[in-house]
Amino acid sequence: MTPRHIIQKKRDGGILTDDEIAFFLRGFMDSLVTDYHMSALLMAIYLRGMTKGETLALTREMRDSGKVLDLSSIPGKKVDKHSTGGVGDKTSLIIAPIVAACGVVVPMITGRALGHTGGTLDKLQSIPGFDPHPTPLRIVAQLREIGAVIMGQTDDIAPVDRRMYALRDVTGTVESIPLITASIVSKKVAEGIDGLVMDVKTGSGAFMPDLKTSSALGESIADVCRKLRTKSVVVISDMDQPLGKAIGNALEVQECIECLNGKGPADLQELSIVLSAHMIHLGGRVRTVAQAEKMARESILKGDAAKRFREIIRMQGGSEHVMDDSSILPKAGHVQPVKSAVSGFVTRCDAKRIGLASNALGAGRLKVDDAIDPAVGIRLLKKVGDKVTRGEPLCEVHWNDESSLRDALPLIKEAYEIKSRAAKPRPLIHRVFTK
Ligand code: URA
Repeated sequence: MTPRHIIQKKRDGGILTDDEIAFFLRGFMDSLVTDYHMSALLMAIYLRGMTKGETLALTREMRDSGKVLDLSSIPGKKVDKHSTGGVGDKTSLIIAPIVAACGVVVPMITGRALGHTGGTLDKLQSIPGFDPHPTPLRIVAQLREIGAVIMGQTDDIAPVDRRMYALRDVTGTVESIPLITASIVSKKVAEGIDGLVMDVKTGSGAFMPDLKTSSALGESIADVCRKLRTKSVVVISDMDQPLGKAIGNALEVQECIECLNGKGPADLQELSIVLSAHMIHLGGRVRTVAQAEKMARESILKGDAAKRFREIIRMQGGSEHVMDDSSILPKAGHVQPVKSAVSGFVTRCDAKRIGLASNALGAGRLKVDDAIDPAVGIRLLKKVGDKVTRGEPLCEVHWNDESSLRDALPLIKEAYEIKSRAAKPRPLIHRVFTK
């Protein structure tokens, strides 16, 4: 068996055996398989695809490249949520406290922003003092005490994924169903969870822009989860326009706190409740999803979810005063409105362009080690379906650097489409399924 033989087999449309996949990935970790071998195999997989069996073997091998957390000493079911990534997608910060307040343990591992999409870890780090890397002992203690921890990925969870992802990012091989499935599921099952709610995004701001491919990705994730004995629910949700109104790290944290106090934008509030309900149901707290939904809504109404978020921030070293006074979050030096040139209805607010504009302002990164500015971003004042008159602001741009502002403004203007008639709204949730 040689790396070249395996690459050729996949290139010619062959089906790799479990042993061949194991040989290749273990060789990659031991430096016997080089970056150029791996890049070639990734492209062959991207072009030829993988069978369900190959995707399962790849996921298992990626999971076993590192440690699998053992949370069995913590009573109760452990459930997490993962999103394929979007713009203004901040539900993790709302969901973890809701679900923990409803009695399900949430060991949530989150990532950094990459490409046009945001990352939960960057949002959390805009809270003064917040530590996203608690030690394993502190993770267990916090899960026991308050039932939730929100943390960055550690070096020992599916380490091969980080190296493979870095190569995929520069070789044009990110948008592959088997590769995305294995990347996500390997990390999630390594957390030692009993259940996973997968929020697969569809629309211009998603990896998989059309419903057919996002559904295929959801099916693939659910299939691998089932075979690895992790219960899953897949929610296909809309990412054609940004979720909520805030895009940018500190602005998004502020919007999450509003949501936990029951005052968030309707789409963000609704999706957070639906995803929380599936997690609470998977966690076995109630018999039906409808009961779980009621529980989730009550946790907000009674203030339990907001209290739990305060506890998460406090236990992870952050300043809990952010819950009472969001002015302690980083603030941009300048706020500039973008005004509508015409009157009519907003028929498009393109998620990808708004995400790229937010990145241009400095809120995101193009390379894993780029620095970000937590204060900058965009606050949408108008979204799809809203009426607007000429000269009325469509959004506010929070900026610090003038040349970045110059790069962002054309993208924002291109993102908005205004017509004389309102368009039929896209559903917030397109499909929900489980295996
Ligand atoms: N998120 C991941 O963790 N991996 C992918 O491949 C895509 C999105």
